[in-house]
Amino acid sequence: MDKVILTVAPTGAWPTKKDTPYVPLTPEEIADEVYACYKAGASVAHIHVRDDEGKPCMHYDKFEKTVKLIRERCDIVLNLTTSGGLGFTDEERMKPLIELKPELASYDCGSMNWMHTSVFINSPSFLEKLGKVMKENNVKPEIEVFDPGMIYNALYYLEKGILEPPLHFQLCMGVAGGIAATVENLVYMKNLLPKDCTWSAFGIGRTHLPILYATLALGGHVRVGMEDNIFYAKGVLAKSNVEFVERTKRIVTEMGKSIATPDEARQILGIKK
Ligand code: ZN
Repeated sequence: MDKVILTVAPTGAWPTKKDTPYVPLTPEEIADEVYACYKAGASVAHIHVRDDEGKPCMHYDKFEKTVKLIRERCDIVLNLTTSGGLGFTDEERMKPLIELKPELASYDCGSMNWMHTSVFINSPSFLEKLGKVMKENNVKPEIEVFDPGMIYNALYYLEKGILEPPLHFQLCMGVAGGIAATVENLVYMKNLLPKDCTWSAFGIGRTHLPILYATLALGGHVRVGMEDNIFYAKGVLAKSNVEFVERTKRIVTEMGKSIATPDEARQILGIKK
């Protein structure tokens, strides 16, 4: 495939202003950052929001404002989180996608012990409900998997009709409690995916670049951004998510491929504007 979907995940749930002063946290900061990434070539924006103290949240008003500010300025494909962090209610997790109808939203396909400290719960009843609600609202699931078992969960929900083909996967690698971010593991997971799916992958922290290169070599799509990695190089903080987008664009171009525009990404993913 010559077109690569480049997702930027500028905020995530974890980095604070203490970790990096450059992480965008308010709706205005996030929208400015997404627009700058769009101008630099990003195809999709994966959105998390924070409360007034900068903590991870699923506050609907923060999503509403952020999405409005982005939509006023560009047509980047929007992908809203349905986790937002840990411990939110099913209703809090689904309200933004029901109200704002983004083209994509995350579908975390199983539960896990998160970073040796807590539990990331995606119960069978929640996944069934979420699949149904996404279908009703015409939101395509981006199936986030943190270990190979979650791929088999997705195949189960596909067979049950809760997920519909063609599936789109995001292989999230290197989170403690999930699969380690190695090239061998990436190849293994990629080979478990159904033939007609689309997929993307990322490694967190210092595994970011090896997984990016390997994903491109394997024909996958890619995700960058401070949700996954705040360093541009060893000991050097990225001053903006744009730096990751620009670097990825250079790498993709050198490989003889190009970054998909938002409309090309829609076409590849089979979603309507
Ligand atoms: Zn996320």
